Amino acid sequence: MELKNKRVLVVGLGKSGISAAHFLQAQGARVTVSDSRDAVALKEEIPALLDAGIMVETGGHGLLTFRRSDLIVVSPGVPMDTPELKQVIAFGLPVIGELELASRFLKGKVVAITGSNGKTTTTTLVGEIFKAAGMVTLVGGNIGLPVIELIAESSENAVSVLEVSSFQLETVEEFHPWISVVLNITPDHLDRHGSFENYAAAKARITERQGAGDFLVLNGEDKATQMIAGKTAAQVFWFSGRRPIKQGAFVHGESVLFVAKEGAKAEPILPVSEIPLKGAHNVENVLAAVCVARLAGVSAEVIRAAVRAFKAVEHRLEFVRQVKGVAYYNDSKATNVDATMKAVASFEGGIHLILGGKDKDSDYTQMAELLKERVKVVYTIGSAAEKIERELRGVVKMKAAGTMQTAVQDAAAAAVAGDVVLLAPACSSFDQFENYGHRGRVFRQLVNDLQD
Ligand code: ADP
Repeated sequence: MELKNKRVLVVGLGKSGISAAHFLQAQGARVTVSDSRDAVALKEEIPALLDAGIMVETGGHGLLTFRRSDLIVVSPGVPMDTPELKQVIAFGLPVIGELELASRFLKGKVVAITGSNGKTTTTTLVGEIFKAAGMVTLVGGNIGLPVIELIAESSENAVSVLEVSSFQLETVEEFHPWISVVLNITPDHLDRHGSFENYAAAKARITERQGAGDFLVLNGEDKATQMIAGKTAAQVFWFSGRRPIKQGAFVHGESVLFVAKEGAKAEPILPVSEIPLKGAHNVENVLAAVCVARLAGVSAEVIRAAVRAFKAVEHRLEFVRQVKGVAYYNDSKATNVDATMKAVASFEGGIHLILGGKDKDSDYTQMAELLKERVKVVYTIGSAAEKIERELRGVVKMKAAGTMQTAVQDAAAAAVAGDVVLLAPACSSFDQFENYGHRGRVFRQLVNDLQD
């Protein structure tokens, strides 16, 4: 891809947009960045961009800025139906995402992991296994470093393990992973994708360019990911926590097993009891990682040791503290209904559940049966509180807490020894917090402040 003297516009000044702008400038392109936020909101970011000779447009998008470009690079946070983008796409200007841009320059092999939930956990674990096997490993994407930032370190013998989101996959063209993983597809981001079908179609694009020499790892228990098997040219491997499967990784009895080829003997990888993470959903993440690692040629011994040493990623069903016999768990990253259900299903009962935040057009009634079975009280917070209360009325005891502080205090006052207080809010955090990490830290602090 020739960038020298090309007029390139970067839309959206998130972490990956800033990386993309600097990278493009270094390649000799004439770069402009445009963000709908105003200059005050971007005061931290702007000086370094100007210093590098990048033009900056803030407080909205000028249609002319878009029309004058040879190439437009869109950040994952910017919806593709933004009016200016729709116009230039109609005019036939090339519009790509940061993932697509980066993948044209990234050297070596790519393992790409997507799904509605479990991406960060699985990506991190695969990275740890590869490193333990002595492979030259880079990890990034939707976590840690933007893919653009991996380019400089990449080499022909490196493997990049990338967490990729549906937003990033919406704008791929030539992105071609060696191994792709789709962990699960459950309703999320419907406010942005418009429908479940559009969302699932974006995820399926991960395998669009894969061929017969590539691998696609899918969840054998998830209907929406099963559909993708019919749309790929790659070799399909499956994982299942519930039953033996013909090719891939599964749990049988007390063990995780792997079958390399239909009809071949199942190879034991590790006992399920050695998985140091809570919940059946995390067993699924381990199964997916086992599949990837075996396909990449890592031995069972190395996989077993790396899984045993793995720790839950922060804000993912993270144990905070025990106070007066009550266990507190921070699952602030449970930003959709499915993740919350997986968190609730990880405990037998006696749960005090903190729910709420910014709604994403979610259907909370799906949780009714599970909450009735395991949850003692729901404490609602944030702007989604009223909707949650309406949809779960009569199902479970509810308390309108409003804020995290009140929710933690109320839950601590009501819980008895043996109970669990769980933050797994099923919503995004942007109404009351900067992001889910901020929300999780506030929760942790409140829990750490509780009197023993
Ligand atoms: P992602 O990067 O896809 O958001 P994370 O690993 O950060 O995934 O986990 C997000 C949330 O989903 C957390 O609340 C976590 O406990 C939960 N979770 C993790 N793995 C799964 C899974 N396989 N299925 C459903 N929920 C999961």
